[in-house]
Amino acid sequence: MKRAATIEWTQIDLTRRNEATAQRVTAVLVALSGIGGFVLSLRMIFDWWLVALVLLGCLVIVALGVGLWINPGVGAGAVSKLKESGTPASLPVVAAHKTTDESIRYQLQLRMPSADDQFVMHACGEPGCIEAGRTAPDSEVAALLNDATKTWAVVHDSPRA
Ligand SMILES: [Zn+2]
Repeated sequence: MKRAATIEWTQIDLTRRNEATAQRVTAVLVALSGIGGFVLSLRMIFDWWLVALVLLGCLVIVALGVGLWINPGVGAGAVSKLKESGTPASLPVVAAHKTTDESIRYQLQLRMPSADDQFVMHACGEPGCIEAGRTAPDSEVAALLNDATKTWAVVHDSPRA
């Protein structure tokens, strides 16, 4: 096996966008329950210090919701940027290792289409990647590459179950 240069490329998980949406829904629910909790407490509690205490607790919940909202945005930004400016490519699978992990199944070593031989690893349990792992080294996986940001992602046809 040739020496692998894996340091330069950063792998992006294209499925992250869905997770981000789900996390955002949770974030809104968390923030709403914080606000709702405070409004309800105003109608039931009449001691000002209890209201202050509840307000503090509710503010923490709202802050948690805001934090949940911001976090996935960072990853989703990288995903949309790669989707917009990435170049479709077929990466040859040069080696495949079966793993004992049920959710990963295969570790694929892929060759980047660059002048010097660069390799990246893709650990995955998607049907397409399992098939590519079984048939390696005569297989390829579809990918998106962005040379400018040195990001890449495997394109899975079937959505993650
Ligand atoms: Zn995969």
